[in-house]
Amino acid sequence: MPGKHTKAPDSKGHFGQYGGRFVPETLMPALIELEAAYKKYSKESGFLNELRALQKDFIGRPTPLYYARNLSARLGGPKIYLKREDLCHTGAHKINNAIAQALLAKRMGKTRIIAETGAGQHGVATATGAAHVGLECEIYMGSEDIRRQSLNVFRMRLLGAKVCRVDTGSRTLKDAINEALRDWTTNVNHTHYVMGTVFGPHPYPAMVRDFQSVIGAEARQQILKAENRLPDCLVACVGGGSNSIGLFHAFLKDNIKMVGVEAGGHGIRTGRHAARFAGGSLGIFQGCKSYLLQNRDGNVLGTHSVSAGLDYASIGPEHCYLRDLKKTEYTYATDREALRAFDLLSSTEGIIPALESAHAIAETVKLSSSMSSKSIIIVNLSGRGDKDVQEVAGIKGIEL
Ligand SMILES: *Cc1c(COP(=O)(O)O)cnc(C)c1O
Repeated sequence: MPGKHTKAPDSKGHFGQYGGRFVPETLMPALIELEAAYKKYSKESGFLNELRALQKDFIGRPTPLYYARNLSARLGGPKIYLKREDLCHTGAHKINNAIAQALLAKRMGKTRIIAETGAGQHGVATATGAAHVGLECEIYMGSEDIRRQSLNVFRMRLLGAKVCRVDTGSRTLKDAINEALRDWTTNVNHTHYVMGTVFGPHPYPAMVRDFQSVIGAEARQQILKAENRLPDCLVACVGGGSNSIGLFHAFLKDNIKMVGVEAGGHGIRTGRHAARFAGGSLGIFQGCKSYLLQNRDGNVLGTHSVSAGLDYASIGPEHCYLRDLKKTEYTYATDREALRAFDLLSSTEGIIPALESAHAIAETVKLSSSMSSKSIIIVNLSGRGDKDVQEVAGIKGIEL
């Protein structure tokens, strides 16, 4: 695959001390089968050609690298370029991975794919991939999330997927993940589990990274063409970490500042956030060793962010590894800062960003004040904001 610029992970899925495969014995055969299939097909020209054709004609790649002239002028600092993942089919980068995993599942002879979803974005992307490739699809979703995200539930059903209610625990994302894993254990013969980000047991973090690395591979070529040089800085928001790793990977050999932006929620001191580096510690969660928001007894803490896509208790293991190597750095933007950035990009550029992506814009605002007009920043605009306008109106007290 394009975009492999480090040797990590090792053959056991370790990125330094992070990552790995912390799962019950019953899941090991499925992971080993997936690892072997991925190894085989990621080198096979038939698979890669089919994936490239889908990236072009179905997703709409390459996505533009857009010079945000108005935003740059407003901030009075560096030239700001936006990598327009918001223009992908279904409105965000998640489809890059979902379609590739659907294709892989089909090659593996699977007839059914399953996934879990919180806000519904990954569920919609997976259901889209399944419809396109021609696979049966079931999406696990907590009943609390089903209630909150009725529009995405309807979308998944339109796309032919079955949405399975999960009524256990907090009835949200982590309970849905547990149910999906249980399903996979039972039905592994004909079922593939589609992980939505660079998290979970090996080989998911490496495989999803490779599928998302197309973002940075394109951006690198595009900036060289536009500016005849590489950028000084890359900025992306970090939920599980797939859109950021996808942008960063093609630039790892270059000496470029790379900033991942986590959800600062109401602020770190309030405990109501999803900033795993600023507020978490090393732990094991859902098959993977990484930074985790947990209490002293190792119980996973509740998280908060205005953006559902960043609202997760842990972070992809490769981010921890790259941070230790000082290749990447991490900060956070609060809900309030993200909301201000949401308004700013909408009104200056005519682009309404996803609230997740607005976190990256918020950090760009901060960085701009200390960078010269000769510098160049690339910001990953991971998704479009149509899904968020109702939420933002509510926060502003505007009745629609
Ligand atoms: C899901 C999502 C994210 C966060 O996921 P990553 O794996 O960190 O990229 C960011 N932006 C959008 C628009 C999303 O839908």
